[in-house]
Amino acid sequence: MAGASTPGSGQRVGDVYDPATGRRTKTLALAAEADVQAAVAAAKEAFEGWRDTSLARRTTILFAFRELLNQRKGELAQIITAEHGKVVSDALGEVSRGQEIVELACGVNHLLKGAFAENASTKVDVYSLRQPLGVVSIISPFNFPAMVPMWFFPLAIAAGNTVVLKPSEKDPSAANFIAQLWKDAGLPDGVFNVLHGDKVAVDGLLEHPDVASVSFVGSTPIARYVYESATRHGKRVQALGGAKNHMLVLPDADLDLAADAAVNGGFGSAGERCMAVSALVAVDSIADALVEKITERVATLRTGDGRRGCDMGPLVTGAHRDKVAGYVEAGVAEGAELVVDGREVVPDAADDDAAAEGFWLGPTLFDKVGADMSIYTEEIFGPVLSVVRVGGYQEGLDLINANRYGNGVAIFTNDGGAARRFRNEVQVGMVGINVPVPVPVGYFSFGGWKQSLFGDTHAHGTEGVHFFTRGKVVTERWLDPSHGGLNLGFPQND
Ligand code: NAD
Repeated sequence: MAGASTPGSGQRVGDVYDPATGRRTKTLALAAEADVQAAVAAAKEAFEGWRDTSLARRTTILFAFRELLNQRKGELAQIITAEHGKVVSDALGEVSRGQEIVELACGVNHLLKGAFAENASTKVDVYSLRQPLGVVSIISPFNFPAMVPMWFFPLAIAAGNTVVLKPSEKDPSAANFIAQLWKDAGLPDGVFNVLHGDKVAVDGLLEHPDVASVSFVGSTPIARYVYESATRHGKRVQALGGAKNHMLVLPDADLDLAADAAVNGGFGSAGERCMAVSALVAVDSIADALVEKITERVATLRTGDGRRGCDMGPLVTGAHRDKVAGYVEAGVAEGAELVVDGREVVPDAADDDAAAEGFWLGPTLFDKVGADMSIYTEEIFGPVLSVVRVGGYQEGLDLINANRYGNGVAIFTNDGGAARRFRNEVQVGMVGINVPVPVPVGYFSFGGWKQSLFGDTHAHGTEGVHFFTRGKVVTERWLDPSHGGLNLGFPQND
């Protein structure tokens, strides 16, 4: 923080693993209260200079950061794979999607401009400004250690704020790499700070009087807690939570394309995406054929070390792997039909030890899943795809709308009328029409409905600019004798 790495003042540590070997590779010092104070103080001090740094200078630094990120994204992807486990091509994809927001921020000045009304009243002009908030905090999850922070900090910094990022303690190194890129790009010390830690660091940020806002992404219980705690402390908050994303396949869909999409959306990044397809809603008449096509495709997937050209990597930790495997057991016990059992996977690992100790779970497919089973009602966040059969469009729509989450959803159909109706009727924030993982491009905003988002502001796009700025409206006149005289009435325009 403030341009230097510090070991932290606390005694507590966390373990970081390489999920493809199961070996502990790093020990992370977890921030104590004093470290939170130091990080926020560094950001607060830097804010005084950064808020008045010209838009032109900020843009120059953003362009330099974008170039460095683009040149070095291969290294960043390797760092992500070594701690998260996702395959390298997927990690590269994550960096590229984050880079979109950096590029948006490079050109964001036209969204920071205000409006001007000349002669709103006689010889009175009115204009608006957008100003930075101050010190903003970002608290991010393990599953996108580069992209999720990049949903927020490029716009926050471009708008003149200073940042304290609290990344996930499971894969902390991407944030350090990004901090070094900012330094190399010429960002003044203290504008972008990384605070490593757990609940102590989070609570410190939520309660700190000098933190103006919180951008949180993680599971729903923590998102709700962060929203309630930070708003109670007077902060602006956007808290993005968990998900259960459905993909509805109508009988007229191209079933080969739908099967490809279900496999890609369900098992990409081992299902550890907040936009992963986890519930495949198939209309009865095509369900058998669709399940058969998915099963054929799953048999061709190679699960293994993300650095060995595999399709799917391990899960992030041993505990998470066991939790997901527990859901597979629960699904069997609750009566769902286990079509592919990922617990039997033989991984493509670096050596026998890695094959035995890595956090492996292969793609798992359940059919005939009931809406009351835990594999349907809960977010599993692993490579488990559940097929729920429905009689038709309306039953599928009702199922989706009754779900407590509303992050992403997809419909597969060749019927434009059905797709249009779905777009209008579905109670979900991000909709894909023949697109399984409909993550919006950077200049639109990302966010779900219902328990997938607390607060009303989505990430990036124009909503991101709005979140990281405050509006101010100035009413101005330059006095002349005609403005004299007493009038205690409410000001009116003429
Ligand atoms: P998580 O909620 O466990 O952790 C997220 C962050 O909160 C981390 O930085 C962590 O250190 C912190 N945290 C954890 N427990 C805490 C506590 N008790 N008090 C205060 N802070 C705490 O989430 P995760 O396991 O890292 O990430 C996976 C979850 O994130 C999934 O539920 C996924 O759907 C969700 N997610 C959502 C989106 C979205 O856009 N809606 C995007 C990515 C991930």
